[in-house]
Amino acid sequence: MNNNEIKERVESYREELLNRLGKLVSINSEEGKAKEGMPFGEGPAKALNTALDMLKEDGFEVKNLDNYAGYAQMGTGKKLIGVIGHLDVVPADKNDGWNTEPYEMVEKDGNVYGRGVADDKGAVVASMIAFKVLKDMNVPMNKRVRLIMGTNEETGSKCLEHYVKVEGHVDYGFTPDGDFPEIYGEKGIIHGHYTCQNTNLIAIEGGAAKNIVPGKVTAKVKSNTYNMDTLKNVIEENGCGLVVTSENGVDTLVVTGKPAHASLPELGINAISFLFEGLKEAGFVDPVTDFYCDHFGTGTDGDKLGIKLEDKYGKLTLNCGVISMKDGVVEGTIDIRFPVTMHVEDVCKLIDKNAKDENGEIAIDVKSEPLFVDPESPLAKSLYNAYKDVTNDTVNKPMTIGGGTYAKEINNTIAFGCAFPGTDYKIHDANEWVPVNELLLQAEIYVHGILNLLAIED
Ligand SMILES: [Zn+2]
Repeated sequence: MNNNEIKERVESYREELLNRLGKLVSINSEEGKAKEGMPFGEGPAKALNTALDMLKEDGFEVKNLDNYAGYAQMGTGKKLIGVIGHLDVVPADKNDGWNTEPYEMVEKDGNVYGRGVADDKGAVVASMIAFKVLKDMNVPMNKRVRLIMGTNEETGSKCLEHYVKVEGHVDYGFTPDGDFPEIYGEKGIIHGHYTCQNTNLIAIEGGAAKNIVPGKVTAKVKSNTYNMDTLKNVIEENGCGLVVTSENGVDTLVVTGKPAHASLPELGINAISFLFEGLKEAGFVDPVTDFYCDHFGTGTDGDKLGIKLEDKYGKLTLNCGVISMKDGVVEGTIDIRFPVTMHVEDVCKLIDKNAKDENGEIAIDVKSEPLFVDPESPLAKSLYNAYKDVTNDTVNKPMTIGGGTYAKEINNTIAFGCAFPGTDYKIHDANEWVPVNELLLQAEIYVHGILNLLAIED
């Protein structure tokens, strides 16, 4: 297949791509109230039906699976290739720092702005263009190729769960909802919490979410129950800030650290961890402080909990995100991401060994296995080669991540695109953007990716 021909054919659809993306961005597809026949509300259902209409007009067979998900298909054969994107978005509010209306796509200086242009409507439309190009070229298809579109990726992926229940898994799949070159491994995730019944803290409150390294914690303790200078030293030596105010024999301690995503906790500074570390070193006697320092400490590798695990693809990470106190009981969240080749029950067994002592206990709430596809497998190699051939980028390599994508929900699938290395598209943030040329480049890479997957011998 001629590379230039593919490129030219993709570029001839530039206006079409922008029209379609503009139309989809203009549909606010945040999760809404469920209605009869619309499990995630009106917006997601409307986005799905609009996208399916576009693909139907292109001449593809389309199917709507009860407004959970839908797909367009071409080709024949037993084996199925899936391209799996999503049409729902996270909320956007003009007042949250947007320079343009989030639900009105704006093109400026070769970039487009609007909620979903990067995550993930842009990738879905780029995939549509890839399908059109393959169809125009009359590529012989020994396998079926499906563009699967979900409408609940951001709030639970119940769309893909429904898809798999009705249609089953795919034989080769990619989800353009992660990073290039490709993500062949996603760490397993364990969410849990610790509780301590007994404390000398008067109050404690900190952290924004369980998957964020806490940037701030506020605690109240009795004055003169610890050495203030030692506390200050420990906190400041570790890059945190401390503000103390005293009133009626009670000190209010506000410790600031640095937030980061829980999948990369080493990029942050955990305000809660250094508060407890500082209090302990400052001689504060408290079961919660002891429990925290004994089980978590200031590390992010799970060492204190006895789960310092690592494989050749990466290390386990641990984040204690949110802490609060109610009726004298302190409770905090734990977010653990473990290496891609390990099993969740093995990690849970190790946690169980250290989960309880006289000061408190740890409970596991949610656990999920990692995703791992051999980077030497036909699936992973086909996709990486497509990326390399189109971009000539040999510097960035296939990778594993600590987060999770759609790929975890459906077999034989990895994340491939849509983000190019080194760019911040403001995903889930104000002023989400993407260069138009990158959308076209995505489409070109997906054409090559699908061609390579079609070429795999059954
Ligand atoms: Zn996404």
